[in-house]
Amino acid sequence: MSDIVVIFDFDKTILDVDSDNWVVDELGATHIFNQLLPTMPWNSLMDRMMTELHLQGNTIEDIKQVLNLVPIHPRIIPAIKAAHALGCDLRIVSDANTLFIETVLKHLGVLECFSEINTNPSIIDDQGRLRILPYHDFHKSSHGCALCPPNMCKGKIVEKVQSTFTTEEKKTIIYLGDGAGDFCPSLKLAERDYMMPRKDFPVWDLICENRHLVKSEVHEWTNGEDFEHILLRLIAKVISKEDMRHNVDNSNRLFDCKFETIALGALQKPLYVPQ
Ligand SMILES: [Mg+2]
Ligand SMILES: [Zn+2]
Repeated sequence: MSDIVVIFDFDKTILDVDSDNWVVDELGATHIFNQLLPTMPWNSLMDRMMTELHLQGNTIEDIKQVLNLVPIHPRIIPAIKAAHALGCDLRIVSDANTLFIETVLKHLGVLECFSEINTNPSIIDDQGRLRILPYHDFHKSSHGCALCPPNMCKGKIVEKVQSTFTTEEKKTIIYLGDGAGDFCPSLKLAERDYMMPRKDFPVWDLICENRHLVKSEVHEWTNGEDFEHILLRLIAKVISKEDMRHNVDNSNRLFDCKFETIALGALQKPLYVPQ
């Protein structure tokens, strides 16, 4: 296990699209979605939309079927598998819901690569209707973060992940996201961490406007190719630093993972100088 924790947003980061919109559009409920959108928070709206879809005769299987067709860039899954093979601890932090995320990741064969999925819980009720609940129960108490929607503060989730690190551990977080909700967690990253905002998406705009507030290095990405190259290059960089600290030659492990050119590109200078 390396000392790297990679935290992925799901919609428009792992997926090309937003899974909530995808399900609503594919099952023909866009019109009612647009009518209800101004009247309630997103998380409550998605719960309501599941009732609407159920009333229109859609089953959980229908929802799963459209989720299995969701568009994803062809380099994303190889990138996730390579990061996992290199010993990174992979986690999801998403404002979608458990059923959507688990269905997609299982279909793509990478569900087992993730140690934790932090998202809104979903349950199937006795009528066979999907219910989507808030990750943070804002009816009981507020999470207290003004930057985030009431049902989820992704920054608080990153802090929870960080609180599990012991002081001796030099863990590095790499965070990938696109949305405004990914800005709060970027403020929680330390200097040794890496933020990967998707270029020209809301989180990238917010970071550009507030660059002085983000302590970590920032590496923007545009598409699945960048996602793969930059993520694996950063992982290779952190692993080489770890190996130098521990005086281990791990070059075989790095170069065996089918990203020779990426790792070599990142490691231009010989790093394993015999002592
Ligand atoms: Mg997103
Ligand atoms: Zn927050």
